[in-house]
Amino acid sequence: MIAEIVAVGSELVTGQALDTNSQWLSKALGELGVSVHFHTTIGDDLDENIEAFRIARNRADLVITSGGLGPTQDDLTRESLARLQGVALVENADCLAAISAMFARRNRSMPDRNKVQALIPEGADPLPNSCGTAPGVWMKTPERATFACLPGVPNELRAMFEEQVAPRLKGMGLGGRVIVHRKINLFGRGESDVEALALDLTARGRKPEVGITVSEATISFRIVSEGATEAEARDLMEPTAAIIYERFANLIVGEGTDDVVDALIHQLKRTDSTIAVAESCSGGLIAHSITSIPDVSPYFPGGVVSYSNRAKIDLLGVAPELLASHGAVSPEVAEAMAAGVREKFRSTIGLSITGIAGPKGGTAEKPVGLVYMGLATADGVESRRLDLGAEQPRDIIQRRSAKNAMNWARLRLQGVV
Ligand code: ATP
Ligand code: MG
Repeated sequence: MIAEIVAVGSELVTGQALDTNSQWLSKALGELGVSVHFHTTIGDDLDENIEAFRIARNRADLVITSGGLGPTQDDLTRESLARLQGVALVENADCLAAISAMFARRNRSMPDRNKVQALIPEGADPLPNSCGTAPGVWMKTPERATFACLPGVPNELRAMFEEQVAPRLKGMGLGGRVIVHRKINLFGRGESDVEALALDLTARGRKPEVGITVSEATISFRIVSEGATEAEARDLMEPTAAIIYERFANLIVGEGTDDVVDALIHQLKRTDSTIAVAESCSGGLIAHSITSIPDVSPYFPGGVVSYSNRAKIDLLGVAPELLASHGAVSPEVAEAMAAGVREKFRSTIGLSITGIAGPKGGTAEKPVGLVYMGLATADGVESRRLDLGAEQPRDIIQRRSAKNAMNWARLRLQGVV
């Protein structure tokens, strides 16, 4: 089954808003085994809508439209579909009742204008909207495609897809194949290194298919597997996942949306440890990443953003002589910051970052992108140097530093380094 998504809205073609619905729908359809071959985006113009719907109708089995179901003049989806198919728009009594009930629940009288939302092309079925007023439309055409017209508001679109569209698609059989995805995330090696170690897995035509993607220096293996049932598709991907786990063992930080910070928290919980952070050039990014995850207070007492030398001396007990003789960006100061913050917060681990994020402030000896990380534990304190590249933008240097430091702490808790 081939699908096309048609996103309707002048705000999308003019660049005022980003079309996130098409992306979401493509992913959701992929999980059901429906492959999307086309994305079309159009403004609020009747003739152009009809033309786009006509093209989609003739080249896809399923056309999902997003937007244009509201009560205003520029909401044209119902009318476009009715005109394309040469049928009348007829008032649907159930829809009208549902719309007025929605207004009643909100203690508002229904504006006359909203009545148009109860108009459905003749021969089509309305799709109830559990989160808003506009019903969607489900319409089979004699030409090729079945249309599913969904509202543009993202939460309404998602609910209607899951509650109304997905069950209908499953009922249509979809050719009987189920596609499942699995994403295994790694951190700590470059993409080309990882790829070189995985050429057998990423070879074209291999089954299950394995792809590599990178986001913020986290490298992901994406396995796509197909089977007659979900269980079969999962079983078929298992040996491939096992190879990845064996080959990349300590680089793996998690699956799905899990990244370095999730792996760190997992290790803190597993070892019942706490971590405190002293951040200079990362400006609190580590603390922010950790506290973005709920329920971490038993493992994260806190941190210090010690940006100035004064703050490093007063809040972390860094000796002024160290700063004077080695400079703030030095292994000595990174170590003193880590030891200082560990002592202040009485944590198992003290982790620090000091570096030059740029774009100014670099010298030949200490270029932009030079970062030192410090790690203090009961066994002592160490530092490591990162060279993140003078050409890199400031925010990338900051985020890369934070991720590398968290990864070091996670590997230490795992007993790997
Ligand atoms: P309404 O009843 O609210 O008028 P509608 O079905 O007519 O719903 P639109 O008017 O096209 O939908 O859009 C409503 C809201 O949803 C707008 O804020 C719009 O920016 C957002 N929206 C529309 N299409 C998309 C899209 N493809 N991706 C993300 N957001 C969208
Ligand atoms: Mg609208």
